[in-house]
Amino acid sequence: MKVNHSLTPQPIVEPAAVARDRQRYAALRQQIAQLGFFRRGTLGRIFQRCGKLGCRCMADPPQLHGPYMQWTRKVAGKTVTVRVPPPQIELFQEWIANSRQLDRLRVEMQKISLRATERMLREVTGPKKKKVPRPAATPRNVVG
Ligand SMILES: [Zn+2]
Repeated sequence: MKVNHSLTPQPIVEPAAVARDRQRYAALRQQIAQLGFFRRGTLGRIFQRCGKLGCRCMADPPQLHGPYMQWTRKVAGKTVTVRVPPPQIELFQEWIANSRQLDRLRVEMQKISLRATERMLREVTGPKKKKVPRPAATPRNVVG
């Protein structure tokens, strides 16, 4: 450890752990910066019944129509589905993958942020003090 011989106060040195977290955080931020468009939700295959009398989907056993791809997501708490035609499937897959990646990055950034800021808070307040047992509670004066 270096000893400070100068009379000027030493600048506060960031703890190594916080510096490491700052680097990890910057790397994640870089990944977010490179992320393309995204759409939330899931892509699923469905089979459907059209309901027309005499159609094979109404036969016994039924032969359903499909498979169709559909994009499902929540809008204001309600599930909304949209049919995705084959030429659009690849785009949807990419956008949905991006949204999951964004979620992963955000969760990771949040984890690192919490850890780093906890350390920073401890730096400014010093180590936790031991709890001093409180004296027995005394009844408060009642104002009235
Ligand atoms: Zn049908």
